[in-house]
Amino acid sequence: MVKNIVACVGGGQLAQMLGQAGKGLEITLRSAAKPDSCAFSDCEPFVENLFDQENFTSFIKDVDIFTFESEHEGLEFSDKVLMNNVPIYPPADFVKIAGDRFLEKSYLSNLDIPTAPFELIDTELNIKELEIFLTDLFSSKTLSPNGLVVKTRHGGYDGKGQWVISNAHENDFNELSKEIHSVIKSPGCIVEGLIDFSLECSIIAARSTKGEFASWPLTRNEHQNSILRFSYSPILGLDNLEDLEIQAMHIAQTLCEQSNYIGTIAVECFVANNGLVVNEIAPRVHNSGHWTIEGSKTSQFEQHLRAITGMELGDTSCSGFSAMINLVGVEIDAKRFENQEGIFLHWYGKQVRKDRKVGHLTIIGSSIEQLNERTKKALELI
Ligand code: AMP
Repeated sequence: MVKNIVACVGGGQLAQMLGQAGKGLEITLRSAAKPDSCAFSDCEPFVENLFDQENFTSFIKDVDIFTFESEHEGLEFSDKVLMNNVPIYPPADFVKIAGDRFLEKSYLSNLDIPTAPFELIDTELNIKELEIFLTDLFSSKTLSPNGLVVKTRHGGYDGKGQWVISNAHENDFNELSKEIHSVIKSPGCIVEGLIDFSLECSIIAARSTKGEFASWPLTRNEHQNSILRFSYSPILGLDNLEDLEIQAMHIAQTLCEQSNYIGTIAVECFVANNGLVVNEIAPRVHNSGHWTIEGSKTSQFEQHLRAITGMELGDTSCSGFSAMINLVGVEIDAKRFENQEGIFLHWYGKQVRKDRKVGHLTIIGSSIEQLNERTKKALELI
């Protein structure tokens, strides 16, 4: 049976694009979207406060599947959703693992999937003991010869909740330990070895309720101040691309099958000397897969809805070359992008603020020269 009401807590740009994809599939996306939320006009909005029990019951009424655009929001409501006998896809137990950097890295290691070497930081350390622990770990180079990065277990995105301790920095271990100590109990921290990598990439894939699996070609990702700015697919200029594609697909498929994953998933990786090293799993549609809306026969958003509602997965073939530019903290004149061949503007309708993702552009070209030319044009128009 094809399901047709999908509920999504959160009304941001991911819900907006899920709502848009749902229209072509006769799926209604019911989203907790206020009139000023990105998703408001592309979904069936639900404006009442979801923390109220009665409101939540009407939000979930007649819903076939519950999904989410942020792991945190998804988990916050998962018990209530299950009490209403509504399935949650992706599965909440895997989302819990992916949302905790210690559990996530342990899970990957148990599956023999390469990840940065890591250690859990003892929550009982005092500031002095933490300073000694970090100084010793750094100078012994046990985790990596390149240095360390301390990360909070939960939360922290776009580079927040992270402390890099590298040879390139003047490391004041005392100052660092004071800062880090304030979070070692809650949310807790891990320390990772810094990976020497040539570029960052991600694989976007999906697995359906029927166990069908599909993925897109690897996407190259470029960050500035830890915020994703550009994505490109396919990746160019790598001699071992074919091997990396095979490894990426193997990683994504292993993760999906072992966790009985349902929905779209993104696995972010470093390209290191010996191949891919996984940095992070996003159990949802992901910014680095936005280019699939125009760059592939099936977008990651449509695929997510197909996967969770028991439909057949769509065709992920891509013709040509795609790029995605995130619009971060910039006001733009949308008219300038009208009728620009191969350039597509997605404006999220959010208030512009510094470092806030307010939209993106997808650029497609049938040749790399055409893609470069159009990308240059798009950058001029911003
Ligand atoms: P994350 O929040 O884990 O996605 O990290 C944000 C960014 O920090 C990544 O995109 C990398 O550029 C960098 N980074 C994180 N972990 C490591 C690591 N173990 N080695 C090298 N760079 C890292």
